[in-house]
This record gives sequence, C-alpha cells and structure tokens, in this order.
Amino acid sequence: MPAAFLGHGSPMNTLERNRYTAAWSGFGASLAQRPRAVLVISAHWYVNATAVTAMARPRTIHDFYGFPEALFRFEYPAPGEPEVAREVAELLRPDWVGLDPESWGLDHGAWSVLAHVFPHADIPVVQLSVNAAKGIEEHMGLGERLAPLRRRGVVVVASGDVVHNLRRIDFHRPDAAYDWALRFDAAAREVMTRDPSALAALAAHPDYAISVPTPEHFLPLAYLAGLARAEGAACDVLVEGCSLGSISMTCYTLGAKNAAIGSGAGAASLPDPAIVPSEDTNT
Ligand code: ZN
Repeated sequence: MPAAFLGHGSPMNTLERNRYTAAWSGFGASLAQRPRAVLVISAHWYVNATAVTAMARPRTIHDFYGFPEALFRFEYPAPGEPEVAREVAELLRPDWVGLDPESWGLDHGAWSVLAHVFPHADIPVVQLSVNAAKGIEEHMGLGERLAPLRRRGVVVVASGDVVHNLRRIDFHRPDAAYDWALRFDAAAREVMTRDPSALAALAAHPDYAISVPTPEHFLPLAYLAGLARAEGAACDVLVEGCSLGSISMTCYTLGAKNAAIGSGAGAASLPDPAIVPSEDTNT
C-alpha cells in the first residue's frame, strides 16, 4: 500500500472542492486494492505520549471553533480496527504505545482529508498520536518501524502542514504565501523528493522558526520520511502550493501508483481554488 503526507489546511477543506481536495481524492482512487485499514498520524492529536485509537467505533471529534454549523454537523462514521491498533503497538516496541479504547476518536486532521480520500467512510481508521516529547529524528524512527504495515494492506496517511503559522495568516492571500513560507516549503520539497532521511536537517533552515513555530503540524511529515527511509526511497509531490500566506498545502506520496496525480501538468490544468465555487454545504 502507498503512504502519504497530506497538508490539510483549513477544516473547511472537508466541505470544499479545490485542487488540493482533488489530489486527495485522486490518491484514494489510485489504490489498486481496497485497503485493510488506514492509519492516520494527525497533527491534532498532539499529546505527551504515543497512543493509538483502539475502539471499534471512533467518534468524529469537532476540535475547532468559529466555523460554520455544517462543519460541526459533519460526521465521518468509519469503523475502527483494534487489531491494527495492536499491530501498531507491537511494531513500535520498545516504545510504549497506549491503546486507547474510548478517549480519542477521529479529529479533523484525520477526517478533513479522509472525507476526500475515502469518501464513503467504509475503510477502518486507526489514529496514532504525535508524541510531543519526541523530536524529528525520533518520529522518523517510529515511521520507519511502521513500514511493515504497508505490506499488510494498511495505508498510512500523515496529516499536518509543512508550513503552519496561524499568527501570520493573511485572509487577503487565499492562494498565496509569504516568501519565507515559499522558501521553506521548497526546501522541504527538495529533501522529501531527494533524500527524506535528511528531514531533521530542515530544523537548521533559516526559515524553520517562522514556518514551524510549533512542531505538531510539521512532525507528521517525519512519519512519511521514516517510511521512505525504510525502503531507501524518495517521495513524490502529490500537489503543492500555499494558502492564506502562512499555510503550506503541499502533499507527498510514497509508492503511489500514480505519482503524478496532482503534480506537473495535471496540477497546472486544474482550476485555481480561489475561483472554484464551493458546494452549497447547507443542503
Ligand atoms: Zn491542522
């Protein structure tokens, strides 16, 4: 099974259709077989432990404020898969992994992208927390140890944003970004497409501090880098771009059938999201 890092951006992407959500749909549609499950590493489950959801029916968590009612009504009723949760805990040894039978569920880092990747919510979903006590290298190590899951029919989807600075958001730039955001996004692309094992070196980049003021949205990328390192492979760009000045929407895949789903000529021919009317979300 392929793996991906998806830059999820605004929760509104759940309900909208734009070139990024088209790329996410394309990734799901490119799978040659129906996956056994999807393991999501979400920026929005950032806690002081490594934990994995192990319930049969994970709830849809609406972990945000100030968005339209339609977003609070959105449900992603995919089942869980406790057996995959146990396999994750086993693979990550000797690290301790908490099996969570009831506390978490699916947060919007997971369901905002899964709504497009697997729109029928019929593939079981397991979420893995991002352990705040660990650094980039350690997260890469965890990602590397998850590699066997791909051969067991599990799609690994890491969900964050390479550049994520909410204090610098500029609503007058819906589809553009500051120079520092573009520079850091380009530096990350260079690493991911050439040598993902060098990801931790990005922490020394001059634009790291402003692009990654807190690490939770960046760290999911380390899981894809770790999976790539396990295979001695590089990643492909699924779609790239920035929005609202300080958010990167760039997405990467590893071992996807159609590596060019959303990049190159395909991406260029897709309409600008700024001019695509949103679907009526009240119906
Ligand atoms: Zn987010």
